[in-house]
Amino acid sequence: MSDETQQTRSDEPVIEVRDIGKRYGNIIALSDVSTSVRAGAVTCVLGDNGAGKSTFIKILAGAHQHTDGTLLVDGEETTLSSPREALDRGIATVYQDLAVVPLMPVWRNFFLGSEVRKGFGPTSRLDIAAMKRTTKEELAAMGIDLRDADQPIGTLSGGERQCVAIARAVYFGARVLILDEPTAALGVKQSGVVLKYIAKARERGLGVVFITHNPHHAFPVGDRFVILRRGRSIGDFSKTDLSMDDLTSMMAGGAELESLAAELEKTMAGTALAEEMKAKVKQ
Ligand code: ADP
Repeated sequence: MSDETQQTRSDEPVIEVRDIGKRYGNIIALSDVSTSVRAGAVTCVLGDNGAGKSTFIKILAGAHQHTDGTLLVDGEETTLSSPREALDRGIATVYQDLAVVPLMPVWRNFFLGSEVRKGFGPTSRLDIAAMKRTTKEELAAMGIDLRDADQPIGTLSGGERQCVAIARAVYFGARVLILDEPTAALGVKQSGVVLKYIAKARERGLGVVFITHNPHHAFPVGDRFVILRRGRSIGDFSKTDLSMDDLTSMMAGGAELESLAAELEKTMAGTALAEEMKAKVKQ
């Protein structure tokens, strides 16, 4: 099945949004977001808490429907009416709180709900050997050397668990992977592991939507960057259009941090706090 996921890099985006938005009654959760997701490319969605990231994912994942703007999948205007419909169109979402059963072996989690059976009718039974083999192979294809497909998934590190979820989505035919803050709860090393798999998924021709609030995680793997602030897009940039510094200062708080630092500089020049703020702005 993994052959089906080997997408050719075409010029047409798999997903495109034009001035998309979402209102909940009178509350505007998201407005005017435009960007695209292409096969073999990573679109990063950056924003601080409350910026609208979850709302945006829910629209792409089919969990909520947009109320403004246009959503195109394979060039065709559409509304994704359920997560099932999004999945059927090859859009898979890996949420931060992964739906795994910690005590079950890795292979069982990999195939949960889509078990492989051998034989037919009432005498059919689980093809455990095939599932273990496939799990190992698919994880190896993503660069994860699993010692034993039988080990409980709960014994893997947070980063590895994210990677199993990514490999699973790829195996079951995803063309676009939406990753909901996969590095948010991880330390530096584990984040590096996940970023490597994001790059791997891109190499395999998938389109990736990588949600994060960390420009240091987004910049190395991203091809496009959408920055959200308080429910609005403040830009959709290609990597050639911006530097790491631009991305950092555009992130929520960037501008505020600068003016706060300038303010502190005036009133508290030379104090430790002013120096600390200046350093933060420079980071
Ligand atoms: P993020 O994921 O970036 O933290 P969200 O998409 O969760 O941001 O939220 C964006 C804004 O939309 C917030 O101000 C939030 O309060 C509002 N919002 C999100 N979901 C709902 C909802 N179901 N009803 C009303 N307002 C909502």
